[in-house]
Amino acid sequence: MEPVRNFLRHKKAAVKFYEAEATKIDYERRVISINDDSEVKGDTTATEVPFDMLVVGVGAENATFGIPGVKEHSCFLKEVNDAQKIRKAIMDCCETATFKDQSPEEIKRLLHMVVVGGGPTGVEFAGELQDFFEHDLKKWIPELAGNFRITLVEALPNVLPSFSKQLIDYTEQTFKEETIEVRTKTMVKNVTDKYIEAEFTGPDGKKQMEKIPYGLLVWATGNALRPVVKDLMAQIPAQKDARRGLNVNEYLVVKGTENIWAVGDCAVANYAPTAQVASQEGAFLARLFNNMAKTDTIESELANLSEVQAAAPNKETRDQAFNQMKDLQKRLRRVKQMGPFEYSHQGSLAYIGSEKAVADVSWLTGNFASGGKLTYLFWKSAYLSMCFSSKSPSIFDPSVTDL
Ligand code: NAD
Repeated sequence: MEPVRNFLRHKKAAVKFYEAEATKIDYERRVISINDDSEVKGDTTATEVPFDMLVVGVGAENATFGIPGVKEHSCFLKEVNDAQKIRKAIMDCCETATFKDQSPEEIKRLLHMVVVGGGPTGVEFAGELQDFFEHDLKKWIPELAGNFRITLVEALPNVLPSFSKQLIDYTEQTFKEETIEVRTKTMVKNVTDKYIEAEFTGPDGKKQMEKIPYGLLVWATGNALRPVVKDLMAQIPAQKDARRGLNVNEYLVVKGTENIWAVGDCAVANYAPTAQVASQEGAFLARLFNNMAKTDTIESELANLSEVQAAAPNKETRDQAFNQMKDLQKRLRRVKQMGPFEYSHQGSLAYIGSEKAVADVSWLTGNFASGGKLTYLFWKSAYLSMCFSSKSPSIFDPSVTDL
């Protein structure tokens, strides 16, 4: 996470920050249970925080579909810790593969990097990993060259199902040139510490089980609800049919409540669970709350003026108060006129390695699909402009930026 304390110091509002995991939201009692999950523990590690209004933006967790062995043996791609774990695991695979007297078969297994899930997360990771190998690993440990392999496993007939057909073909073709093997129609059913077991559907429709040995396994099969969100949904009758997350209305209010808002991957507002949607929702809520604060201020000013008007000793004071009230009422109407949340889709972008990217971009009134080096420059400038902030602690830390 970005360090928020320094940032909050410069804000007008009084903000209390707790580094903790919210383990339960009690809707009836209007309290949240929080736990200190850090390594350094004090005497108090669990407590409650009461709320009047609540914004839930806890995101999602990794979907594993209950497949045995996934949680124990895979690396995920959600939190900063996950990236650090992957980097360490890659280096460990390389060092163990070069360990003296390692058998050729074992070297092959250790240097086989398997990514499960051909959505944007899996595709971008496979592309970045191939770059890491080409630009760095190969130079550092030249003896890896013949054995380092990346395989992307996808249950559906193609990768990037949400992109246009032309970009799907372009991605699969680029991966072929980059020597990333794409295994579509291959559904992982079981994971052990050294191999995955997957069901492959052949062109004739026949299914066949296969063991795929791996050194590093990265699991990117999409999002699942976090237990704290599932539990909140169970407390609100209007959420009984919600499946993918908290159903919200056009103002991002959780349906069936008046004082809870939800944003990002834990909310369902009929948009894809992307950062683009989440950041626009966040900005919308900031405007909404600022407006609510302004409304409160204006309403209390109006109440004061109405008292002044009632107690006015002469016509002049009364008229003065009346005119001020008229202005305030006009401002209040403007503030209260805030429309619902409207998502503006700027397009879908994904990096596919070798300085190439694919983009389905909304342009004026239409859409256009593009792939290649120019798209990569577009991708890079769009992502760089969003990634960097004076608060990012890690941008100059080579151990983090390498991957
Ligand atoms: P996803 O849900 O988009 O893709 C997961 C893929 O895993 C699916 O294609 C599914 O068929 C496959 N899968 C599931 N179970 C499997 C199994 N047992 N064996 C093999 N394959 C299996 O997930 P994601 O890629 O993590 O993306 C999640 C959301 O985040 C999406 O909305 C995506 O658009 C967004 N995202 C966007 C970008 C970007 O715009 N560049 C990058 C990352 C994520």
